[in-house]
Amino acid sequence: MTIKEFEAVTELKGIGKETAEHLAEMGIFTVQDLIWTFPFRHEDQRLKDLAETPHNEKVTVEARVESVPSVLYLGKNKTRIQVTVLAGRHLVKVVFFNQAYLRTKLTPGSIITVSGKWDRGRQVINGTSIHFGPKTDNTDFEPVYSLRGSLRQNRFRKYMRQALDVAGENLAETLPLHLIQKYKLPSLLEALEGVHFPKDAEHAKQARRRFVYEELLHFQLRIQALRKARKSDEQGTIIQYDLKKLKKFISTIPFELTNAQKRVVNDICKDLKEPHRMNRLLQGDVGSGKTIVAAIGLYAAVTAGFQGALMAPTEILAEQHAESLKSWFDPIGVRVALLSGSTKSKERKVILEQLHNGEIDILIGTHALIQPDVVFSNLGFVITDEQHRFGVEQRRILRDKGINPDVLFMTATPIPRTLAITAFGEMDVSIIDELPAGRKQIETHWLKKEQLNSAISKMEIELSQGRQAYVICPLIEESDKLDVQNAVEVYEQLATIFHGRYKVGLMHGRLHPDEKEQVMRAYSEGEIHVLVSTTVVEVGVNVPNASYMLIYDADRFGLAQLHQLRGRVGRGQHQSYCVLLADPKSDEGKERMMSMTQTNDGFRLAEKDLELRGPGDFFGKKQSGLPEFKMADLVHDYRTLEVARQDAEKIIYDKNFWENEEYRSLREMLEESGVLSGERMD
Ligand code: ADP
Ligand code: MG
Repeated sequence: MTIKEFEAVTELKGIGKETAEHLAEMGIFTVQDLIWTFPFRHEDQRLKDLAETPHNEKVTVEARVESVPSVLYLGKNKTRIQVTVLAGRHLVKVVFFNQAYLRTKLTPGSIITVSGKWDRGRQVINGTSIHFGPKTDNTDFEPVYSLRGSLRQNRFRKYMRQALDVAGENLAETLPLHLIQKYKLPSLLEALEGVHFPKDAEHAKQARRRFVYEELLHFQLRIQALRKARKSDEQGTIIQYDLKKLKKFISTIPFELTNAQKRVVNDICKDLKEPHRMNRLLQGDVGSGKTIVAAIGLYAAVTAGFQGALMAPTEILAEQHAESLKSWFDPIGVRVALLSGSTKSKERKVILEQLHNGEIDILIGTHALIQPDVVFSNLGFVITDEQHRFGVEQRRILRDKGINPDVLFMTATPIPRTLAITAFGEMDVSIIDELPAGRKQIETHWLKKEQLNSAISKMEIELSQGRQAYVICPLIEESDKLDVQNAVEVYEQLATIFHGRYKVGLMHGRLHPDEKEQVMRAYSEGEIHVLVSTTVVEVGVNVPNASYMLIYDADRFGLAQLHQLRGRVGRGQHQSYCVLLADPKSDEGKERMMSMTQTNDGFRLAEKDLELRGPGDFFGKKQSGLPEFKMADLVHDYRTLEVARQDAEKIIYDKNFWENEEYRSLREMLEESGVLSGERMD
């Protein structure tokens, strides 16, 4: 019998209506669907001696059934079946839940192979899978699938065996041959065997290697195809800036740009000139000098007769940007305006008018920029600061205020390269990986909670020298309310300690936005000396006089977040300090505290965080922006991701991509995912 892979699974022997329904729940309709349903793990089925197996460890034993099984009904469809077996020299019990059908199969004297968790104290194996008969040689590593309804692993494997037997030979190879050869990957059929019926650990490993690569290659191809489409799209704006003026402007800046800043300015200017739309992410650690780079880009657009916009997530940030830009632009006659929620309506009207008739060159602001009545006369370049704080929709509205303007996103959150090319693969990425010379390194110390007093004494020394301090309160997951309560407690404590000497302020998420602004303003003007805050203390806020930060329960934070917080100090010419107060229980927590004391490099910390805590921290759990992979794991397989990215780029730009038979399967994948019809991701 030959069955083609796209025929219905019901063509296979033994799949009736009920089974077909369960399979359908798993998304399996055709033989092909079945073949591509991968196990979520492989169970080590090598036989072990119970005497040498530690408590709670997984074991597989071959045993003889010694008793009639007893079944206990535990209520609604719940059963527990127990049988005594002889495994080697050990008389032990085997227990299964909700598998009452085993009763007729477990006849005394029969041989079974059982896998499960070994309860050493009770001498019980809590069974997870069972095979009737002695262990066969080829099942050292048994796949375990996530199944629905009354489907059982054994039966599912039988269908799989059949599917591979009847359809396997007809399966066309999906990877280009030269890549299979280059990386010595198993062929498709060989790899499917390795996933579903591994002969040994190595067989399973090689199969996984192939599918991880293939999955990441597909993913990268989709991204690279989108990127290529954008780059070859000539609908963007050509911004023919005036190089002479630009150079002159750069020479008036009161400091020399770092090499990294120069490199990024070049990236941006190159994009501006090109006819395709710029879609670039600029990453640079706190204090690395992104603002001046943004200003240079905006000025370039202005010299070509375009307007520019810079959107920041908070009023204070917008004001700080406006202040910096005015100081650079006022002397050369570039007109800068600030628009925020608190702009008076009379002033707002004037700004909107001047914006519309082109008298304003650069508009800086908050969400106020995306109001419908904000109309530019000729918007050519849009920059968003701390891009992750804005939704996709808000960024789109701003972009749509121009005609295909160039777009630059800036972020101070260092994102490990693997995540950046995964989540932002469609963008070009520039990195400022160098701080301006002469910056003092922040000194970071890790203290035990019982050493709080010494942390406070150190804070007092700083305050007595006219400096200011931040105190970050413990983070209580999922409870904004408890966060606030904590902050209030710490605030009261410190207010008592410093009573009559220093003024303590309080900041948390439950304050009204106006109150928040007020507190932040008082702090940045030096009226408040110590700011007690939850993590809401704004990203990018610049109070150069603050030289001391105390973080309570620092081990509750990820490294990326700790680094962000720490970046609030060390912004002026004063030596700054960050004290982490924590008694971490886990080794991982200790390692995080140590890492913080050892480096100020945000990218290194980000890589470390990814390694220790996985990708969740970088994007928040919900809107992760990361695709779900079937086999690949971004932390584990980051090298493969990089290799796949390079291969995908080569393939997409290969002249023969559309003709070459080797690429047929990849072309079909791209067509199916809609990428080739020009859908945009952002
Ligand atoms: P961030 O990247 O965190 O936004 P900013 O743009 O606010 O950093 O820059 C931080 C400070 O460093 C600012 O006061 C800025 O004027 C200054 N700065 C930027 N670039 C340089 C440089 N190349 N040399 C010296 N100081 C610089
Ligand atoms: Mg900034």
